[in-house]
Amino acid sequence: MSLSEFDLIRNYFSDLTLTRSDVELGVGDDCALLQVPAGKVLAVTIDTLVEKRHFSPGVAPADLGHKSLAVNLSDLAAMGAIPAWVTLALTLPCADETWLAEFAHGFAELAALHQVALVGGDTTRGPLSVTVQAHGFVDPGAALRRDGAEPGDLIYVTGTLGDAGLALLVEQGLYTRPEYLPFLRRRLARPQPRLEAGQALRGLATAAIDVSDGLSSDLGHILSASACGATLHLGQLPLSPAVREYVGETGDWNLPLAAGDDYELCLVVPQKRQDEVERIGLRLDCGLTWIGTVDRASGLRCLTDAGELVEADSGYDHFGGTD
Ligand code: ADP
Ligand code: MG
Repeated sequence: MSLSEFDLIRNYFSDLTLTRSDVELGVGDDCALLQVPAGKVLAVTIDTLVEKRHFSPGVAPADLGHKSLAVNLSDLAAMGAIPAWVTLALTLPCADETWLAEFAHGFAELAALHQVALVGGDTTRGPLSVTVQAHGFVDPGAALRRDGAEPGDLIYVTGTLGDAGLALLVEQGLYTRPEYLPFLRRRLARPQPRLEAGQALRGLATAAIDVSDGLSSDLGHILSASACGATLHLGQLPLSPAVREYVGETGDWNLPLAAGDDYELCLVVPQKRQDEVERIGLRLDCGLTWIGTVDRASGLRCLTDAGELVEADSGYDHFGGTD
């Protein structure tokens, strides 16, 4: 690298984000020193994005900076946690200063939006991959886990489903709709972690998960952790005009049901809290839509408006299939 490892860290990452009063020591020493507020539980999550696996080689560095942070904040959102600190492990093939500046900018913009401080990391040379670890706070016993769903509970989802999946089909040349392209690309490249929704449903939701691998797969994790099944009403799925048109043309429900990368939240709430939840939904920018109900019988049933059953694919699995 023309730039030394330490210059690179100093130039791009030492002062990338705001600092916070609970950061006793940030970037620059062997460890960060962080003060968890008294009485809070620390929620910790980590996610890696690998080139050719999670993003294509031509990805805009600012989009990658944004997304590597967004996918981690999305996990905190799914727990109802309030984000505070992140660390960043970067593996780079070379120290391209333009690339680094843009990556850092995309990362910093989203960090600022959610008052998140970058407090440390690691920088190594190798095939491009980005790992972010995020830390947030939640009251003891208040986190939204996967294992609390009960038969009769209502299933909600934020935002719209299948947009990122449709963006991938467009990227692969398998679907063409130029008028929807900017919207779809943005949904794939710049997912917005639904922190407000997760936090608003703390104390209401019995279970929650973020939709990273596809609704059927991620809801499936709630159902198996909670030992329940569910029925989804396909006509209720919140779809953007682009995905609605695609499903209308192709009849392919698997796009909104099983495509990943939307980073919406799937939340399960008791029926008796429905009014409160609907009221919260009205004030969430991303929206909150009822899509189905938790059942005692295991398995996931997806019903069309005509009452036909549709088989949902299992969603993305890194070690499933041949590649
Ligand atoms: P060590 O040798 O103790 O692991 P490093 O030389 O890897 O320390 O890193 C020096 C300092 O810079 C540490 O405080 C580390 O947390 C921070 N750091 C390294 N890479 C990054 C990065 N990509 N983003 C933020 N902080 C980083
Ligand atoms: Mg190190």
